[in-house]
Amino acid sequence: MNMIRKKAQTRRDFLTNAVGGAALIGLQGVGVTNHTSPWRPDDSQADKKLKIVITGGHPGDPEYGCGGTAALYADAGHEVVFLYLNRGEGGIDGKSGKEAATIRTAEALNACKMLKARAIFASQIDGQSVVDASHYDEFYRILESEQPDIIFNQWPIDNHRDHRAISTLVYDAWLRLGKSSSSKHPDLYYYEVSDGEDTFMFSPAYYVDITSVESRKRAACYAHASQSPDMFYSLQEQVSKFRGTERGCKHAEAFIRHVISHSDLLPPSR
Ligand SMILES: [Zn+2]
Repeated sequence: MNMIRKKAQTRRDFLTNAVGGAALIGLQGVGVTNHTSPWRPDDSQADKKLKIVITGGHPGDPEYGCGGTAALYADAGHEVVFLYLNRGEGGIDGKSGKEAATIRTAEALNACKMLKARAIFASQIDGQSVVDASHYDEFYRILESEQPDIIFNQWPIDNHRDHRAISTLVYDAWLRLGKSSSSKHPDLYYYEVSDGEDTFMFSPAYYVDITSVESRKRAACYAHASQSPDMFYSLQEQVSKFRGTERGCKHAEAFIRHVISHSDLLPPSR
């Protein structure tokens, strides 16, 4: 039993013992985890193949923030999808938007191949994010068609507007998935990208030991060769080492879980 599973069990036991099952059902609407959701794998569904969608404001964000966790899911036979807000049009000095998008799309596809993930590119332009009704609808349509079990999203308190944009677009779609009779309500986690000026005020409670796959995460991040990986990966590596120190391992990725989510679909953390 991993630490995360034990925490969920303890909370459920506490609530059941303290307030009783009827009261627990009554509290679900205010944020207590729903343990009776029909799609949650129980013991008889332990081998269920999960779909994980990891969203990012640019090519590279899912890899830097969740690359290790993504590799662990894929290695366990689950389906991993990286949903990028744009193709990185604004990210290469001296290149046109179209040229940069071509280069960075190829880099992202290469990174996805290393992590056994599938790439989806939404319709936006790097640095020109739009959050409006039609773009909320676009993200709902994408996620509704993918039917993920788990979504990893960028944390909304971030210095980059594209990160903030995808965070709110995904959160809105997640809320709508929860209300739709034709969709399941995925678990929702937030991840961090830290180059010293992106994610802020991030206090995670859930950790995944990525030590065994850190070299693949590194390679996937370095696949984004146009994005100064020597500098940025060394900064992200400081984060994974710091989270590893907190977790008691060499490298970890750490997450904030939305309270209306389960906690037992994360990769086991040794
Ligand atoms: Zn980014």
